[in-house]
Amino acid sequence: MIIQPKVRGFICTNAHPQGCAANVREQIEYIQSQPAIDNGPKRVLVVGASTGYGLASRITAAFGSGAKTLGVFFEKPPTEKRTASAGYYNSAAFESEAHKAGLYAKSINGDAFSDAIKAKAVEMIKEDLGQVDLVVYSLASPRRTDPKTGELYSSVLKPIGESYTAKNLNTDKLEITDITVDPANEEEIANTVKVMGGEDWELWMQALGEAGVLSDNCKTVAYTYIGEKLTWPIYGHATIGKAKEDLDRAARAITESSPAAANVAVLKALVTQSSSAIPVMPLYISLIYRVMKEEGTHEGCIEQLYRLYTEGLYTDTPRLDGENRLRMDDKELRSETQAKIEKLWPQVTAENLFELTDYKGYQADFLKLFGFGVAGVDYDAETSPQVEAEFS
Ligand code: NAD
Repeated sequence: MIIQPKVRGFICTNAHPQGCAANVREQIEYIQSQPAIDNGPKRVLVVGASTGYGLASRITAAFGSGAKTLGVFFEKPPTEKRTASAGYYNSAAFESEAHKAGLYAKSINGDAFSDAIKAKAVEMIKEDLGQVDLVVYSLASPRRTDPKTGELYSSVLKPIGESYTAKNLNTDKLEITDITVDPANEEEIANTVKVMGGEDWELWMQALGEAGVLSDNCKTVAYTYIGEKLTWPIYGHATIGKAKEDLDRAARAITESSPAAANVAVLKALVTQSSSAIPVMPLYISLIYRVMKEEGTHEGCIEQLYRLYTEGLYTDTPRLDGENRLRMDDKELRSETQAKIEKLWPQVTAENLFELTDYKGYQADFLKLFGFGVAGVDYDAETSPQVEAEFS
């Protein structure tokens, strides 16, 4: 089939196998161009390993530290008529590159919130790795089925307390209009914490700890975003921010109750399949792209992850805040950088979008997530959606 992007709103419903593979190779090459990670992890479990920050975590561990990696994700395989999801192609490409480099790499495709997938991961670690010395928790999901009760919870992206009106970019129509989001009620807040809070991270660490597969010097990290004034009403001080606060509680509980030392890492705002679904974020990210590219401080997932390993997880002098969180959002949150963004924010209109912001860069990165717009890939060529992959 000819595989061209099918974009609907903030999602792209197909993906290009060769484009995804090229993206993975590009990230591997970046890591290979950097100094190896001193005292880095050798056996790593990444939960949410197929796209965005989780994929970059896996690539950094494997190619920066020579780690054996087990990845867990929830991705659609291809059929004769439909392409796979991008994360499926990314993971197939990652495994193939890792195997070529002589590195152990296996993956589990299934619901990480379930007891069955946790048990499968434990079994594979026991059989193949013995123990792990790093567990990366990088799930982003709108829903979670509680493994004990079978109840399905959905998260919402809403402010807390009062409604919030803000400038929003409709990425389909390229219109900028004010949107008003009503505040969440108590149940919606609790449900969002249930989906995106720390409970599942704790359940993973409990299952791994009880099975004796965490090494004595094991570390675990989960990711959060905090942001600044422009995004607080819809992120930091909103339902998702409440859920993320729960990660701080979970980190303390995990450190107390398991052999692993747990930290939350604060990463910068970037285009991923998850962040493009959050109101206000596409416009904010287009602005920070422009400002940070001008400053020479722009980073993608892989640059952030390399710094997280070298300046956060595997250094004697990690950059920690008062909550024991590893701060990798230092460049985004510099006061000069935020001041430039705050100055530009009220001036942006649909007419000057491409001039005042780097929406072009945002759009290109969005399509790239699905393997489109990648140099060297022939998008007019007949392409099979099938790829070789052996996921458990
Ligand atoms: P993403 O959508 O690119 O990745 C999500 C991953 O979770 C994928 O591997 C997907 O397969 C997996 N997943 C989802 N549901 C699953 C399930 N039920 N079972 C197994 N796997 C499942 O998202 P991302 O932006 O890389 O986010 C990863 C983490 O980083 C999140 O905690 C997010 O809040 C955080 N973060 C993101 C940003 C940003 O700007 N994108 C910034 C800071 C922190």
